[in-house]
Amino acid sequence: MPSIDSTDSSDLMANFESRICPQIIKKLNHSIEATKFCKSTWTGADECEVRDIDGGQWVVDIAKKTCSCRRWDLSGIPCSHGCQSLFAMNLNPEEMVHECYSKVVYMKAYANMLKPMRGSLYWPHTPYPDILPPKARSMPGRPKKHRKREQGEPGAGVKLGKKGIRMRCSLCLMYGHNKSTCLTSKEECDERQRQEAEAKKAQAAAAKAQATEKVFIPFFKLRQKKSC
Ligand SMILES: [Zn+2]
Ligand SMILES: [Zn+2]
Repeated sequence: MPSIDSTDSSDLMANFESRICPQIIKKLNHSIEATKFCKSTWTGADECEVRDIDGGQWVVDIAKKTCSCRRWDLSGIPCSHGCQSLFAMNLNPEEMVHECYSKVVYMKAYANMLKPMRGSLYWPHTPYPDILPPKARSMPGRPKKHRKREQGEPGAGVKLGKKGIRMRCSLCLMYGHNKSTCLTSKEECDERQRQEAEAKKAQAAAAKAQATEKVFIPFFKLRQKKSC
């Protein structure tokens, strides 16, 4: 079983020679890769106008570390437009990544390890009574009797139509008509009803036999059987 060493990631990070964490460098590299589709124009002071291959036009402010596409503002990692402007001004995009992604902050965050703790059995006892959940209280108003119906569900008292249901005669048991329009003789109807009843009986008996076969045998009984 592999051992879990919580210091692994911290050690890796300590040996990592960069101001920014590796995952952020990967993201920044994506932005740098996309600068080939951008063209920036310096408009004075710290602002640049960047056009991309999709016809977009963006405003980058190097001093404020913002881009009108809002990716840089929201993530703290320069977007492709930002990177393109930084390159145009001979600046390193890595230096412009937000401080929260730096190695120093990461090391600081993981400097304090979680301490192991004994179970609640060994916790000190207080003289105060245990804290119990609040008592359930009935809300004002008469309790609702009807359930909330789903959207599109017909309201109470609406009878569902018989559309799509195959009509079957209850006398001759044939499909396509009902007993009010039945033309079959009474003898034939009786014979068919008798046959149907017999078939149903046989089906029920077969189902019962199958159910008894599948009876669950407890595990310990199975073991007893095997040892016999
Ligand atoms: Zn942008
Ligand atoms: Zn019929």
